[in-house]
Amino acid sequence: MNKPASVPEQVDAVVVGAGFSGLYMLYRLRQIGLSVKAFDSAGDVGGTWYWNRYPGARCDIATPDYTYSFDPELEKEWTWSEKYATQPEILDYLRFVADRYGLRSDIEFSTAVTSARWDEHEKRWTVTTGHGEEIRCRYYIMATGCLSVPKSPDIEGAGRFAGPVYFTSRWPHEGVDFTGQRVAVIGTGSSGIQSIPLIARQASQLTVFQRTPNFSIPAHNGPAPADRLQQLDEDRDGYRHDARWSRIGVPSEPTDVLGVTASEAVRRERFEAAWQQGELVGIVSVFADQLLNPASNDIVAEMIRAKIRSIVKDPGTAETLCPKDHYFGTKRPCLDTGYFDTYNLPHVRLVDLRKQPIVSITEDGIETADESFGFDAIVYATGFDAMTGALVAADVTGRDSLSLKEKWAAGPSTYLGLMTAGFPNFFMLTGPGSPSVLSNMAVSIEQHVDWVAGCLKDMREEGLDTIEPTELAESGWNQHVQDCAAITLMPTANSWYMGANVPGKPRVFLPYIGGVDGYRQACDDVAGQGYLGFRMTGPGREQCRDGVIRRMQPDVAMVLELIATMDLPPMETLSADDARALMAATAATRPPGPEVGEVTDGVIPGPAGDLPYRLYRPAGSSEGPRPLVVYFHGGGWVLGNLDSDDPLCRDLCERSGAVIVSVNYRHAPEVRFPAAALDAFAAVQWADANAIELGGIPGQLSVAGWSAGANIAAVACQLARDAGGPHISGQMLICPVADSDMTRPSYQENGDGYILTTALMRWFWDHYADPADRRDPRAAPLRGDLQGLPPACIVAADFDPLRDEGVAYARALEDAGVPVRLTRARGHTHTSVTMVGVVISGAPVRAEIGEALRDFFPSVESRERVS
Ligand SMILES: Cc1cc2nc3c(=O)[nH]c(=O)nc-3n(C[C@H](O)[C@H](O)[C@H](O)COP(=O)(O)OP(=O)(O)OC[C@H]3O[C@@H](n4cnc5c(N)ncnc54)[C@H](O)[C@@H]3O)c2cc1C
Repeated sequence: MNKPASVPEQVDAVVVGAGFSGLYMLYRLRQIGLSVKAFDSAGDVGGTWYWNRYPGARCDIATPDYTYSFDPELEKEWTWSEKYATQPEILDYLRFVADRYGLRSDIEFSTAVTSARWDEHEKRWTVTTGHGEEIRCRYYIMATGCLSVPKSPDIEGAGRFAGPVYFTSRWPHEGVDFTGQRVAVIGTGSSGIQSIPLIARQASQLTVFQRTPNFSIPAHNGPAPADRLQQLDEDRDGYRHDARWSRIGVPSEPTDVLGVTASEAVRRERFEAAWQQGELVGIVSVFADQLLNPASNDIVAEMIRAKIRSIVKDPGTAETLCPKDHYFGTKRPCLDTGYFDTYNLPHVRLVDLRKQPIVSITEDGIETADESFGFDAIVYATGFDAMTGALVAADVTGRDSLSLKEKWAAGPSTYLGLMTAGFPNFFMLTGPGSPSVLSNMAVSIEQHVDWVAGCLKDMREEGLDTIEPTELAESGWNQHVQDCAAITLMPTANSWYMGANVPGKPRVFLPYIGGVDGYRQACDDVAGQGYLGFRMTGPGREQCRDGVIRRMQPDVAMVLELIATMDLPPMETLSADDARALMAATAATRPPGPEVGEVTDGVIPGPAGDLPYRLYRPAGSSEGPRPLVVYFHGGGWVLGNLDSDDPLCRDLCERSGAVIVSVNYRHAPEVRFPAAALDAFAAVQWADANAIELGGIPGQLSVAGWSAGANIAAVACQLARDAGGPHISGQMLICPVADSDMTRPSYQENGDGYILTTALMRWFWDHYADPADRRDPRAAPLRGDLQGLPPACIVAADFDPLRDEGVAYARALEDAGVPVRLTRARGHTHTSVTMVGVVISGAPVRAEIGEALRDFFPSVESRERVS
């Protein structure tokens, strides 16, 4: 079809793939004046919609959204007939687009690209096709699709069946008539769920072989949603803008309702609304925390399971269809039309491969551990080698003869999911590390194509012709992609998002879950910062601003954004009492922290009166004494009390298995330096003397603190050494104030915008100590004698003004011969590590803190891992 007489030897760009992304890429490249050649192994345009012709194949994003939006005229000329269009209609649409913009003349169909090789000298790619043609280009763009390489069935005897075998992803163009046949369907992912009800209508017997049950909700297909159409009619640009800046590429109002705290009535109401709406965007956002908190997720999952049980009449079959081995949304949820109801038909049977595994495919059917089945046809709905399959299937070789397959042997590595170091001028559309399959792909594809076209245009205007990400930028992005996934439940599932469906494929979370909006912002920021993280060259010149575009932990960034919207007055503009009241008000809204075995309040005799303390005993500690940790709260010697650090103390108690004694101390400005430090030392002496009464082990006592609390903990260690006791086993200093010098680089980098500001730190110092006292080691422990101090663990956070003094204290202690563990809280601020139950990414750092505390105490009991 459409094969030109000769292939041009040289073009500006080669595009592989003529689906949604390849077509639009071709259009945009032409628009910026580049010569382009596109190839597709398919016989026509359409990609996914060319290949997947199985009965019931439809989109699962509503058609007003699953459509190109780059040209308002195109939108006017095309009307979708249904909420979820069928495969033939979507294919017609893509054909219409190809014809409307005259794209076919630059596409060679039925032609696979088999290899692409970078020539460093010529700065060009040589692309080879399955027909043996070669074509040279400057830019090589793979628009090869995330779900375009079918996964071959890993079942014994798969080739042995004598009857017809069908793959949902390679369905015969003329269709299949199953009337009167005994049919087997293997696989219950999206394609299985869509096709099973229709195959059941024809087959005389249908047997479905299921390994993993999947969550599915009714699509409630019908006309395109009237509310969406109305919004589009009234303000198309506004609607499209909202889609581009939404979480998944479909306009929607984010909810702040938490599943764990919502009332039963609210939970039910929100779930039923999403069930009735029949859209992914609704069911994945019933609660704001459903992909973060297992308890919240289980509420949604259980409601779906209840629906399945209410539809499927046979209780055993219903139970087998209920997904229980993964959290809802950690595998792509499906939309169906009558799927669960199909199992009520007398000729439809479900076989649970977990209980009755397939032993082999035979000549006339399927043999399981317990039974032999005879079939006339077998349908494989077994999915795809997703996201990386097509990219590594073609032999792409970059600089120094390194192939993409080799580079990605341990998992894909990309910058923005768009490019990869060592492969200049090679772009991937919707590559791993971009939102792609977690989004409305029409929106993600347009964004990727627009970014690539914009980049190539900018390069040309600057006289540049090669582009490649730096190693630093790429590893920073990979880390960010994994950080975003790590705060969700996504990596817990054996999903194709994790590569888990393909034997031997590395387990890495492949797509970017930071949102279509967050991703677009990152791409825009990269371009806006002079293509940060890309090295670009042209005749006689090179341009490179190296760096990492997203270094902050994603949930820390979210908390900062939330705080910014609250418009709080800067603390340093308040009186000490007002600042304390503000801190108490914010503390009251936090999650309480984990349960511990026991909490008791008491008082310690301090140097100038009683000091309140709160004691946390870990669960199970009634069996015997535990090591003691005397803890001091943060708050710049001015703010804070036993309540302010309560969740953190609970967390440390459970993680360390130690008894935590959190001691309040006298605050400035009412009582200034050195009162807080002297109180801390007195508290340590008292705890040591009363270890047995406190449930501690005599001689096993450490100190800990956060911020100013870490400052007085460190000072207490110096005072104890000078006084000849008590013996302190270790000092845990979380983001400590170690010095009064505010000129270190971390103050310049992080002095504004991360809660603890330079101005606030100055306010704290002014309240606490006269300038003359600030060099005293009891205010600035870094300036003291550091010989003979207890082993230390120091936590230094990237976005903390105090980061460098914490690191300096660690180095100085080390130089003085003190064993030191320096824990870098990557992507964290001064406060975020302590936000228990709010900042999920703080948990691994606190796990390290717990481990370090246990290491301070060599006894067996203390080393037992409590949580
Ligand atoms: C059944 C199904 C339903 C889906 N429904 C939705 C939906 O509702 N919403 C949504 O957002 N997404 C959906 N998707 C995802 C869908 O893949 C994307 O929406 C979109 O169609 C991808 O377009 P693409 O051009 O990037 O890739 P594809 O459409 O996959 O096109 C890639 C093309 O590249 C060609 N190709 C690959 N390698 C080579 C090579 N080496 N040489 C030559 N040609 C090659 C392939 O033949 C293919 O035609 C669905 C996917 C499937 C399988």
